[in-house]
Amino acid sequence: MSARNILGLKLDELSLEEAAAKVLRHCQTPAAPLLHIITLNPEMVVAAQRDAHFAAIVNRAGLVVADGVGVVWAAHKLGHPAVTKVPGIELVEQILALAMQDAERPLRVYLLGARPDVVGEAHRRIRLRYPGVVFCGARHGYFAAAESEQIIAEINAAEPDLLLVGLGSPRQEYWIAAHAERLKCRAAIGVGGVFDVWAGRVNRAPLWLRRLGLEWLYRLIQQPARLPRMLALPQFVMLIYRRSRRLRGEEDV
Ligand code: UDP
Repeated sequence: MSARNILGLKLDELSLEEAAAKVLRHCQTPAAPLLHIITLNPEMVVAAQRDAHFAAIVNRAGLVVADGVGVVWAAHKLGHPAVTKVPGIELVEQILALAMQDAERPLRVYLLGARPDVVGEAHRRIRLRYPGVVFCGARHGYFAAAESEQIIAEINAAEPDLLLVGLGSPRQEYWIAAHAERLKCRAAIGVGGVFDVWAGRVNRAPLWLRRLGLEWLYRLIQQPARLPRMLALPQFVMLIYRRSRRLRGEEDV
């Protein structure tokens, strides 16, 4: 595995299967330090250009993958053709599917984030889908910073191997990084709106749209409130074009 550089951010060159296997192996390693997994999207790349703290969090993470077509396109444009798409939801589901094959030591997973009804329903449904996995706890994501200590104590008491944090980005990445030393789990990943999908509140785009690289458009139509966030996209494209021209030596900087 080699790490690539996308506008100053690390990006690991792993397939979905390789990334899932790596996370599961880490979860099965006794006393392993916390592995922070980040699924990078264009909004996060743009945010990191003006937020050095966020950029440092990404660069310190143990595993950084491309969440969607935007970052894959950027990686290819910047000369890293082997980078492939590893969407957060697919990565987590692949880890759970792989974990089901290991009956000896069931993987323990905790869900943190989304509205109370949503995470409750996601927890109920996901247990039915992956019966070999122990979903050892779930908690909603609408809490004040001062409650974090209590939440960490609850998570640690449930003894998860893998913590799924669905608070939206960059809050989830900040939260994991800020508490990494006190969280006793082995891996933590920011999963954005995955619990909404698992609970059946939001649908993923049909496969043919995903294959066309248009999942973002489907999400936008389902959740028009995401429109302001999309404004980062033209900026992302511009930054990538500029960097790729610079790499090809077509621009003096
Ligand atoms: N959320 C949360 N606490 C908050 C704000 C948001 O738990 O204070 C949840 C929200 O309910 C949703 C998720 O965070 O489940 C964010 O979803 P979104 O689709 O915006 O995430 P993305 O993958 O785009 O970062």
